[in-house]
Amino acid sequence: MVLVSEVMAQQTQISRVVPAFEAFLKRFPQPEDLAAADLGELLSMWGGLGYQRRAIRLREAALVVVSTGWPRTSAGLRDLPGVGPYTAAAVACFAFGEAVPAVDTNLRRVLSRWTGEPLQARRLDEIAAELLDRGRPATWNQAIMDLGATVCTPRSPDCPACPVSEWCSDPGVYVAPPRQSRYEGSVRQARARILKTLAGHGPLEVAVLAELVDGDADRFDQALAALMGESIVIEVGDRIGLAS
Ligand code: SF4
Repeated sequence: MVLVSEVMAQQTQISRVVPAFEAFLKRFPQPEDLAAADLGELLSMWGGLGYQRRAIRLREAALVVVSTGWPRTSAGLRDLPGVGPYTAAAVACFAFGEAVPAVDTNLRRVLSRWTGEPLQARRLDEIAAELLDRGRPATWNQAIMDLGATVCTPRSPDCPACPVSEWCSDPGVYVAPPRQSRYEGSVRQARARILKTLAGHGPLEVAVLAELVDGDADRFDQALAALMGESIVIEVGDRIGLAS
């Protein structure tokens, strides 16, 4: 459950994640259900969250969990498909209680202001590990994430309302929020439309698919080539369709 929510929340606003998360978990309550999911249904349950590759990697991770069990440490979780350092740490801490900091942009911003230096890479990891409350790692991670999301915001931190202002060295340290590339008119959008169309119609001739997807021809070609390169879309006789 924590893994699904963390993967869904990567690069997607929480307000969009919540309804999709609830429906997804209802349909795939256990790793076994997700591991056995058909690609068309998987993508349709992923809904409008975008970056559908995440859903496919999540299904691959479920297959590993079904065959070898849950890794219960952040190091072990990092070996699962599609799981990076932040997601591994968040799952290890929130689901299994490991005392490990879940280093995301919010945490980086808050700790950078506490220390008065824009922290990065190894230095950031070291400071986070040093400051982590090892007796209450989940509470500590959650509290810093919440502080960064609601009070210690990138451009206008509300320092008078900050409950830990006495720990802060420099509110002026700026850590940019992650950049979201434009979705409308992007190759990403073309990918999503191709997958949605194939999930709804089954295998189609390329010309028919292009007509149904209805967008810029170059972006369609790029998106289709990438999906075929990743084996998400395959040739089915003289048509193309979703891999199983
Ligand atoms: S005092 Fe201001 S800048 Fe410092 S941690 Fe609190 S909200 Fe962030």
